[in-house]
Amino acid sequence: MALCSDERRPSMTNSMIPLAIGDATLTEASGGVGETRNPATGALLSHFAMAGEVEVNMAVNAARKAFDEGAWGRMRPFERGRILQRIGELMLERRDEIARIETEDSGKPLRDAYWEVDCAARFFEFYGGFVDKMQGNSIPLGPNYSDWTTLEGIGVSLHIIPWNYSFQLIARGVAPALAAGCSVIIKPATETPMSAWNFIQICREAGLPEGQVNLINGRGSVVGDLLARHPGVDQITFTGSVPTGQRVLEAAASHAIPSNMELGGKSAQLLFADADMDAAMPMVLGGVFTHCGQVCNAGTRLLVQRSVHDEVVSKLHDKIKGMTLGAGIDDPDMGPLVSNAQKASVEEYYEIAAKEGELLLGADLPGDAALANGAFVRPAIVAGVDNTARVAREEVFGPLLTVIPFDTAEEAVQIANDSPFGLVAGVHTQNISNALAAAERLRVGQVWINSFGVGLDVEFPFGGYKLSGFGREKGLEAISAYQQVKNICIRHPFA
Ligand code: NAP
Repeated sequence: MALCSDERRPSMTNSMIPLAIGDATLTEASGGVGETRNPATGALLSHFAMAGEVEVNMAVNAARKAFDEGAWGRMRPFERGRILQRIGELMLERRDEIARIETEDSGKPLRDAYWEVDCAARFFEFYGGFVDKMQGNSIPLGPNYSDWTTLEGIGVSLHIIPWNYSFQLIARGVAPALAAGCSVIIKPATETPMSAWNFIQICREAGLPEGQVNLINGRGSVVGDLLARHPGVDQITFTGSVPTGQRVLEAAASHAIPSNMELGGKSAQLLFADADMDAAMPMVLGGVFTHCGQVCNAGTRLLVQRSVHDEVVSKLHDKIKGMTLGAGIDDPDMGPLVSNAQKASVEEYYEIAAKEGELLLGADLPGDAALANGAFVRPAIVAGVDNTARVAREEVFGPLLTVIPFDTAEEAVQIANDSPFGLVAGVHTQNISNALAAAERLRVGQVWINSFGVGLDVEFPFGGYKLSGFGREKGLEAISAYQQVKNICIRHPFA
């Protein structure tokens, strides 16, 4: 699995990531200077300019001016679409550079970072191709009236981004927002500020008008909150944890603006005894151990039919014992967590798991001395618990799979739905009746049957039920969050 060679290592310099406001690039800002480190080694990667209130106001003014003066909105839709598609092309041209930066900043294996860039490019390709196909409706009012709707960009759209898939999640929200005609402010996570600057450079090079995208780095509790409360912001797309999402919703409520909330999960995979086990096993493993379990839609609860439970647990344990751990840039099976703070939090859950059930640990930590300060944890499975355990209810955001037995299809669905979250679910069975009945009853935004993710799947909608949030990203459904619908009605002066 490891693909290590020195030429794969990015030549990261101790640089300064700037803010981007209008056409200005600010390497100094009133919030001081932050630093970002490689979670595999602890080495300093880059400094970054941290915004304060001054820069927040400047960014909102720049985005407001861009939207109100309307250089973007006055372009013909096909011209806007071409610029968006060009952004996607430039991402693919710089795929290596961006993937390596994202790997170093977040810790994820290099192949996941390549996927992330490819996915980001697909968002721009997909929504770029849709800009000239958005249509309003003609509404029948009867004689002497004409009535129709037009679609307008909602205004200044704020995108608050988590650290797990920084580049991809920027693209996921910003591409439909720009397609709808909005101007945008991006606030990346403090843990992973680096690739957002590549994103801005690409947007500028592709010819996006001044002020259409603006970049603000800095503490979320300070600048994120200031941005979310700012009266010049018209809409918020937030991706992150439930508690922070609730704070952002309060800020949005203070000036009554709409929000998309993409929050956490504790997603179930239902594994029936009649499933094709050879096909299902990689999906179960990939579903939970990708990016060290730091994935919102990770399948962290495995519900297994009792007759195959012990055999499945034993097979999974063997698999995780054979995994490779290492620096993301060497493309191991699993990299480090994003930070030592996240490592401490995950280790606490391992202690809880050992008390609540049987904790089965996988591969040893990397032996390489260069990785001694890295935020590594071993992949793990906890069995012998029921769905009331904390490790069955709380989002760990680490590589811990909770396994729970079930007897009947009804019981499997009941356990899957007995969660405060409702993001996605997987169903593995060769009985199509069981699969469809489960899909109909599962209270989640997305059900996978005999799969768990397609890859580069920008075409269909994604979003949560319950505490997993509301609103939909991806697919054509995403566009409506960024649009106003205006109705125009004419009474004709004819008798
Ligand atoms: P987080 O701590 O909630 O932070 C998310 C973002 O919010 C960061 O940019 C953060 O900035 C900012 N922020 C913090 N406090 C704020 C405030 N008071 N006002 C405005 N913004 C604020 O989440 P995370 O730890 O980065 O990400 C992990 C979580 O994201 C998990 O729960 C995961 O499930 C969820 N997630 C969901 C999806 C989805 O699509 N459903 C996708 C990915 C991740 P700082 O970094 O500066 O604190």
